[in-house]
Amino acid sequence: MQILHPFVGSIQQYFKETSEPDRYRPDHCPQCEANRPLMAHGFYSRTLVDVEFDSSIRVRRYLCHCCKRTVSLLPGFALPYLRFGITVIALFLIARLLVGDTLGGCAVAATLPGMPYQRGQFWIRRFRKQAEGICAALAALTAPVVASSFVVRALHMLQSIGWMAAHRFLFADLRLHLLGWPAFLAPDGRVAALRPVAPPA
Ligand SMILES: [Zn+2]
Repeated sequence: MQILHPFVGSIQQYFKETSEPDRYRPDHCPQCEANRPLMAHGFYSRTLVDVEFDSSIRVRRYLCHCCKRTVSLLPGFALPYLRFGITVIALFLIARLLVGDTLGGCAVAATLPGMPYQRGQFWIRRFRKQAEGICAALAALTAPVVASSFVVRALHMLQSIGWMAAHRFLFADLRLHLLGWPAFLAPDGRVAALRPVAPPA
């Protein structure tokens, strides 16, 4: 299960912060009732593309003694299961859906000139599906704006709260993904354990 790293700051600062395993160790397991600190369990690597960054980052992992499941601390600038960071996606969506720029212009705005246009269309499609839910959720943080659509309203609300702060709230408190969870992790980012239906007795 992924939860948010408590650290808030830049990618460069994040590298320094992750070297110390005890500093951000969760004091309890978010997946079971065990009320014991988790045990450091190494890292996994994932790629991240963000403004002036295209490389891999290390994500700290912890293990619960009781349920034997792992918890990883994902930094707030990265979205679960997406290679691209929140900042570049936000820049793209604003340029396309608020400013009305061309797909090529949006890629430039997102600091990713030359990126395949299908990628941007994928972000837009996913964001459109999430917009209504994002508006409803973010009403807890900011007054809803009058807008012509949920998409425009959601973008204004994200802009006024700040995308990282909004993502932190949506993900940590509500398990809501800005662009939606992939189907196998819906609805809340956890692998659903499907039990076979018992035959009638
Ligand atoms: Zn546990």
